[in-house]
Amino acid sequence: MIRFNVAPVIDQGIEYMEAAIRGSKTCGDGPFTKKCQEWIIQKTAATQALLTTSGTQALEMAAILAEIKDGDEVILPSFTFSSTANAFVMRGAKLVFVDIRPDTKNIDETLIEEAITDKTKVIVAVHYAGVGCEMDTILEIASRHGLIVVEDAAQGVMSTYKGKALGSMGDFGCFSFHETKNYSMGEGGAVLVKDPAKAEEAEIIREKGTDRSRFLRGQVDKYSWVTMGSSFLPSDVNAAYLYAQLEIADQINENRLASWNAYYEQLADLQQRGLIHLPVIPQECRHNAHMFYVVTEGLEQRTALIRHLKENDILAVFHYVPLHSAPAGRKYGRFHGKDRVTTKISESLVRLPMYYDLEADQIRYICEKIHEFYK
Ligand SMILES: *Cc1c(COP(=O)(O)O)cnc(C)c1O
Repeated sequence: MIRFNVAPVIDQGIEYMEAAIRGSKTCGDGPFTKKCQEWIIQKTAATQALLTTSGTQALEMAAILAEIKDGDEVILPSFTFSSTANAFVMRGAKLVFVDIRPDTKNIDETLIEEAITDKTKVIVAVHYAGVGCEMDTILEIASRHGLIVVEDAAQGVMSTYKGKALGSMGDFGCFSFHETKNYSMGEGGAVLVKDPAKAEEAEIIREKGTDRSRFLRGQVDKYSWVTMGSSFLPSDVNAAYLYAQLEIADQINENRLASWNAYYEQLADLQQRGLIHLPVIPQECRHNAHMFYVVTEGLEQRTALIRHLKENDILAVFHYVPLHSAPAGRKYGRFHGKDRVTTKISESLVRLPMYYDLEADQIRYICEKIHEFYK
């Protein structure tokens, strides 16, 4: 069976985890956490980067930092993971879903402005498949209306838009280091902060509402509870596992891109014949090969293709039931404008196996089986 995802196994990561355990430094904010955070800051030019226990919790921290209150509205795509929405719903926000672009499957920036009301507080840019949203337009709209931009860059570690790292352009950016993402700490994530004043607030919220970080740096002589917060910091053992991957991030990225390009080349003829659509990477974006997907004709064909691949020992999966059509989405949100693309894409997209060290022979086999299906 060719699996859909396999998390990287790096010997160095196992050594680092052992070092963390033997050094009795297993709680949060240990040496490996610091190394990971320094790596993120250096890669992204974010003012602050803090590891969290998940991408979900990074989004929750962003919602707290954005000071979401009851009745505030948040604009986001419906074609995303529930965590993007939950973070804001838990703070009392109403969701306003906007359609996506057919090419990148990212929020359609041309539809955002008409969804803005006097209650709108945040625009969430979800970078689907690690391909950047049209950030210049989104940031310009946000600044004209005084809105906060949160980037859900859970899939976007190592990707850029006009040379800038995904996650570093909005007020807050969120990474995921879940097992299914390009770099894994099992469960984990990071929140990126742009404004220096908010950077300190982020540290406090993440440390149970205390100024313990300042205390550890010797900036205050005792630490106390200063505001609302929680424990969003992961164990240093997890950070140790992650750090070994970050050290070879270029190698992992290039390996994934090679697999992505192999898929693209071997399936291009099916696109030319109008049988499937392949991912579109805009000129200004550099992606990280988080995902390789094909867009089929519709639900029926998609189901048949997944079945055909499964019969040939290949695990391919679909993605996201649109949030606005899910029970919680109907309760907490509304779709602004027409759903021209979201449901259609949700019913026709298939993700193919993609992970570090996926073999060229396996990709050839998968592409052969897809050709066989379309014969
Ligand atoms: C994976 C993912 C998340 C959640 O990250 P976790 O680390 O699994 O909590 C949020 N948003 C998007 C778009 C994701 O792909």
